[in-house]
Amino acid sequence: MTHVFHRYPKQTMPVAKAGIGMELIDSNGKHYIDACGGAAVSCLGHGHPRVIEAIRTQINQLAYAHTSFFTTDVAEELADNLSASAPGDLNHVYFLSGGSEAIEAALKLARQYHVETGQKSRRHFIARRQSYHGNTLGALAIGGNAWRREAFLPLLVPSHHVAPCYAYRDQLRGESDAQYTQRLADELEAKILELGADEVAAFVAETVVGATAGAVPPVGDYFKKIRAVCDKYGVLLILDEVMSGMGRTGYLYACEEDGIVPDILVIAKGLGAGYQPIGAMISSDRIYNAVVGGSGFFQHGHTYIGHATACAAALAVQKTIKEEQLLPNVLARGEQLRATLRSAFANHPHVGDVRGRGLFVGVELVADRDSKQPLDPVKRTHSRVKSEAMARGLLVYPMGGTVDGRQGDHILIAPPFISTAADIDRIVERLVPAVDAALA
Ligand code: PMP
Repeated sequence: MTHVFHRYPKQTMPVAKAGIGMELIDSNGKHYIDACGGAAVSCLGHGHPRVIEAIRTQINQLAYAHTSFFTTDVAEELADNLSASAPGDLNHVYFLSGGSEAIEAALKLARQYHVETGQKSRRHFIARRQSYHGNTLGALAIGGNAWRREAFLPLLVPSHHVAPCYAYRDQLRGESDAQYTQRLADELEAKILELGADEVAAFVAETVVGATAGAVPPVGDYFKKIRAVCDKYGVLLILDEVMSGMGRTGYLYACEEDGIVPDILVIAKGLGAGYQPIGAMISSDRIYNAVVGGSGFFQHGHTYIGHATACAAALAVQKTIKEEQLLPNVLARGEQLRATLRSAFANHPHVGDVRGRGLFVGVELVADRDSKQPLDPVKRTHSRVKSEAMARGLLVYPMGGTVDGRQGDHILIAPPFISTAADIDRIVERLVPAVDAALA
């Protein structure tokens, strides 16, 4: 009997023993192509010598020092690096240990900013119905995943939701991209006015939707319009790039492609690439200066913030991405992956949509391609794809359940940035029969 309190105790899972490059190997010696890096985490693949060496060097010198006593060279250098690469005036990096922690910090910083600037009535957060921001109570409160929230509803701070930007399902026939994004921006504006323009603290959105619907990118000028609505009413814009950030879309920050700068940007997963648990919240000059010039400090903190070994891993990951010029490869391999999937599933009756940006790719499965009718939720097809893919030595990330009041089955494919053209072909070769077997 296991004494690990597993997340899914009734499932028997293989034992992961080793990771080399694109592959994970279990205790039976079976190899799996890791085409999702867990949940879009392992962006450099496994066993990367440079990252391992950086961790070893740091841990030999200093594993950890508490941030209320010390800063460290490695935390300073990583923050310099992130602030130099982040868009606009996102210059102030607050380290955390993962995505949910970073979201909690962002919510608190937004609230504290308003308190510091004499706008104490600003307390409401608006997010989107199709969204996942983490499993801690604050993050869960703003997320839109009904099944994740249900049991905890009495504990969650009230939150407010508007429609996501989900063209495959919600863009009307004959509606242009500009009309669709205007409709969504109008909905946000109406929600702000309904709650009271001086009562809303921030709007929170994933730049590219991840864990609820497999890599749904925004349409056209969606975020430019959203930024304008937020600015009009003094509402802060928090972008969650826990999954989509740090190069996953082919840009270091996904919002660069949308041409906007949020007030607070949240990153995690690819930051440490799975070598160490680390996340970060990056804030603009305006927010930072209001807090530092006001009460003088951010009313928040955790034991492991700025953990030296975690920072060393993340710094090595960032240097590798830059020096090995991996982002152009992310763009090229992402194009290849989408094109290969579209052609492999061109006549497939149950593949409704293939979408994404860079190496952040989603496949939506449906009962009927023309009507876009979802599959029967009882069949849990997304998890069957996961099992069938594992049986064929392939790891892809399944998503399903009811989100935004509707059912969906999605597969997320997020291979490492080091993937070659041959790796992408191998992924699709294994995925196609896995999808067919899951639907049989
Ligand atoms: N935000 C997004 C967009 C995520 O995808 C996730 C994790 N899937 C989180 C937040 C929470 O991150 P963590 O699991 O590291 O707490």
